[in-house]
Amino acid sequence: MAASPEPQAIPSFEDARHIVEAHAAIVRGSRATEIVDLLSGAGRVLAEPVLADRDMPPFPRSTRDGFAVRAADLAKLPATLEIIGEIRAGEKPEEIPASVERGQAVSIMTGAPVPPRADAVVMVEYTSRQGARVEIAKGVTIGENVVARGAEARQGSLLLDKGILLNEAAIALAASVGKLQLQVYKRPQVAVITTGDEIVDPETVPGPTQIRNSNSYSLAVQIRKAGGDPVLLPIAPDERQRLREVIEEGLKSDLLLLTGGVSMGRYDLVEEVLTEMKAEFFFTGAKIQPGRPVVFGRVPHGAGAIAREGSSVPSLGRYFFGLPGNPVSTMVTFELFAKPMLEALAGMSPRKLIFVHARLKSEIRIRTGLKRFLPAILSGEFENSEVELVAWQGSGDIAAVARANCYAVIPPDRERIAVGEWVAVMMR
Ligand code: AMP
Ligand code: MG
Repeated sequence: MAASPEPQAIPSFEDARHIVEAHAAIVRGSRATEIVDLLSGAGRVLAEPVLADRDMPPFPRSTRDGFAVRAADLAKLPATLEIIGEIRAGEKPEEIPASVERGQAVSIMTGAPVPPRADAVVMVEYTSRQGARVEIAKGVTIGENVVARGAEARQGSLLLDKGILLNEAAIALAASVGKLQLQVYKRPQVAVITTGDEIVDPETVPGPTQIRNSNSYSLAVQIRKAGGDPVLLPIAPDERQRLREVIEEGLKSDLLLLTGGVSMGRYDLVEEVLTEMKAEFFFTGAKIQPGRPVVFGRVPHGAGAIAREGSSVPSLGRYFFGLPGNPVSTMVTFELFAKPMLEALAGMSPRKLIFVHARLKSEIRIRTGLKRFLPAILSGEFENSEVELVAWQGSGDIAAVARANCYAVIPPDRERIAVGEWVAVMMR
């Protein structure tokens, strides 16, 4: 029997997260890519740079309906100018006046090209047209209401870098330069193993002391959201041989997540079995709640980690996380630790955890020593955001976390937080 990993000092949340980030940097962007149609790229990670195919805008663009003028002609007000033409958005180039001379103006629409030698646009609201002349009541500065050619981007300049998550703005930008197909990273496969003699599949009618597996399902959703493909493996009992078989299966994926079996109980065998498989452990526990027993490590190649075609850094082996089995712990530790690793495998550039801040609605009293991520409800709007913990029975309370829409983040040194204090909030 292999001993469990050597006890190490338990890192703070920040230190544990940095450890994951350092390993994530090793695997980032190492995976195979594929070509997808523009719209199928939404939610995927870009694997090629996208460049401006021409200047943006491609001509000096009027941002208003009004008159293209020479600003100097409006030094004395009101000014009367001669109208020499009209330019609509999409106007044929040969219909655009070759030049706007002193004393002249051109009627122009939003999105139309400003003609040569005009240097500003006066909004139609400040003008009154009399036949072939226009009286203008308000001056303009040079460049007013005009976006200069190439001001948004120069031809050939970088618009989207590889590693970005393609959202609606990025897809719109790709469309605007005629990129109909995009090279994206293949989604990493993430194996999920749930452990525990008491756990049964949701379709099974549970015995009086059995619990339906919910963690595989929360994880599958989180994996998909983070850009991975979940591979749900069979439930592993708290029994060494069978657990090892399922882990070996899980190591065929790009990342392995286990839930349950990482605490100090007699039947918490996950670390023992991984130690038998020559795993390295980067941390076994973090000073957080929920999720304190969280484990992060790597099984070396050859000791069970199997290289998969198109897969990342096979020589390094496979990274794994042992997530505590309590459903809220599983969700929180995925978010804090497994997600940055998965995003790196998915090719995404690193990003920091983002917190919003809200005022506390009801007092919190808590023991010090652990950084807490407590299910909470963020409410209110505009400048009046308020946050309140949901009542819960601890990290097994899946009904409480379903009522929450965020986690309130409580620093480890605070015993009491008063109503009205600012609290960091992690959205989900
Ligand atoms: P463990 O981390 O194995 O000590 O499990 C902690 C608690 O989480 C126990 O109450 C388990 O029954 C529960 N649990 C473990 N795995 C799951 C799961 N897949 N779905 C729901 N509850 C679970
Ligand atoms: Mg268990």
